[in-house]
Parts: sequence; C-alpha cells; structure tokens
Amino acid sequence: MNTISSITKPTCPRCEYTRPIRYGFVLGRQRWLCRDCAYQFTVDRLMFKPLGVKQQAAELYESGQSSNQIGKKLGLSPTTVLLWARLLSDANGRIYRLEQKLTFPKEVSLELKSIQKELMDYKLKFQSMIR
Ligand SMILES: [Zn+2]
Repeated sequence: MNTISSITKPTCPRCEYTRPIRYGFVLGRQRWLCRDCAYQFTVDRLMFKPLGVKQQAAELYESGQSSNQIGKKLGLSPTTVLLWARLLSDANGRIYRLEQKLTFPKEVSLELKSIQKELMDYKLKFQSMIR
C-alpha cells in the first residue's frame, strides 16, 4: 500500500528505490541516503514542495485561477500546478485532503511514481548538460 508519505520521497537515481531516508543537508538542500544501495543524493527542493503547498495549488486551480498565477504565488512551475491539480482530485473533481492520512487509489500512486522517475531523468540529463 502506498501512503502519502512514501510518495513524497524522491526515488534513488541509481537503483530506483522509492523510500530513501533523510541524511542531512548539502548547501541547503536535503540529502538522501538510499537504504537499498547506499547511494547518497540531493534533490532540488522545488521538485519536492511540502504536500500542503501542492494541495493549496490544487485547490486554487479548482477555484478557477490559472496555473501560471498559482505557480508564481506558490513557487511551483505551471506544469507542476496542473499535475497536482489533476492527481489530487477524484473522479468528481473534489480535491483530496492530504492532512487526513488518505491513501491514493492504486493507479494514482503508480502514475505518481512514474512521473517522479521521469522528473528525475530530466533532472539528471540537465545536470550532465551543464557540467
Ligand atoms: Zn539506491
């Protein structure tokens, strides 16, 4: 069963283990330690905003604000706003309340996992380009 807390963690770039542990900070960024392969990595904070912010984004989007407006207000990209607005609403367009320890439907969890991996791949590609 995938709980909310497990999907807010990044995926290990080396072995794709999905539940690394927090392992201090490097230059203000959270460092993670993979419990599976012992790889240490940091993740851009913007990609892992607290769930409260994601929920706020989804709610503002539901209330009719544009993803650009919301993104500027909350420090998220418009794409991320749309993503969370979509993922955090049920079939009736109601926003999931993340404070309650809800479990996402299985298909949503799987989708989130593949999106996280995609973002990670982009990130790694981008980092190797600017090196
Ligand atoms: Zn790993």
